[in-house]
Amino acid sequence: MPRRYGPYGGAYVPETLVPALVELERTWRSARGDPAFRAELARLASTLGGRPTPLYFARNLTRRAGGAEIWLKREDLVHGGAHKFNNALGQGLLARRMGKRRLIAETGAGQHGVATAMIGAALGLQTEVYMGVVDMERQAPNVERMRLLGATVHPVESGLGTLKDAINAALRDWIATVRTTHYLLGSAVGPHPFPSIVAEFQSVIGREIRWQSRRAFGRLPDLAVACVGGGSNAIGTFHPLIRSSVELLGVEAGGPSAASRGAASLVRGRPGILHGALSYVLQDADGQIADTESVSAGLDYAGVGPEHAWLRDSGRARYVAVRDADALRAFRWLAQDEGILPALEPSHALWAAVRAARRRPKDQRIVVTLSGRGDKDLEVVARAAR
Ligand SMILES: *Cc1c(COP(=O)(O)O)cnc(C)c1O
Repeated sequence: MPRRYGPYGGAYVPETLVPALVELERTWRSARGDPAFRAELARLASTLGGRPTPLYFARNLTRRAGGAEIWLKREDLVHGGAHKFNNALGQGLLARRMGKRRLIAETGAGQHGVATAMIGAALGLQTEVYMGVVDMERQAPNVERMRLLGATVHPVESGLGTLKDAINAALRDWIATVRTTHYLLGSAVGPHPFPSIVAEFQSVIGREIRWQSRRAFGRLPDLAVACVGGGSNAIGTFHPLIRSSVELLGVEAGGPSAASRGAASLVRGRPGILHGALSYVLQDADGQIADTESVSAGLDYAGVGPEHAWLRDSGRARYVAVRDADALRAFRWLAQDEGILPALEPSHALWAAVRAARRRPKDQRIVVTLSGRGDKDLEVVARAAR
């Protein structure tokens, strides 16, 4: 399990957290080699989570693009409506293995908070979620969901009252409670060993793409596309394909206008330390974390997982930024062409995939990870249409 991806990653944390990170890494090492752990993970992924998710040929969207075939990896069909379940389940089982009875989590849009609350309930663990006050207002239905699932939601008033502040609050809680509490981090970010643990739990996406594309069209795709917030659904898609010749394209949030930085840390940021790891970060000249803006709350984060930073620098993956208006356009295409309401996060990836398909011959195959469903975004989409 790498501590570093090239120069990126590491664990820039207060000393009080070091024993918890060491314990987590040790537990993870023993769990991943333990057939009983793997069997329990597979059983719940399937019977509670609904895996494997289908690989769907988007025939009408392909016709619209007029080039390469577009296939969708349907993570929107996972329990809870997004890929976040894959990671929450895995880490919930690790928490139980460590004998920790309490889970804490941060959440921005509320999707990770909901996934953690579901897992907390299913595994009988007390669950507390930190959420910025601004996000609580923007994502009120998810606050209600978390409460109905038995979790406590702590409003975070500091900073801008959004995701970055919620992570800071969760880290503060963890420093005081590490003996009894597992911090169930929601993306492939944070100090080692979180990025590699999250990547492995999400790699079920790419492993299924491997066998499903062989079964569906006899080989691996030519291109895999996924949206990048913290980078967990993208790294889960990419990881099992890194040693193949499949091209990898990560899609960040470009924000509302050409003048905006959006939340595109890999495209418009530079290396810096955020939340315990060295990676690409959107920051000002003094290294202060920049404000981000995106139509999709799930991509609205100034940092990104360290493995993506390395994939970018090494050239193994490419990253682009897609603007709000184009993501909204792709949302409508998928709704009207295929009868699927995607979340706004993967709508960014869909737009990039359609653009790529247009430029490629019909015998090429593109797989796009549809990381979540769009029910949570109906309000935003309706407002944008007015
Ligand atoms: C949270 C979320 C994302 C962004 O998170 P990653 O860690 O980058 O995957 C993307 N899509 C959906 C549907 C989400 O809920």
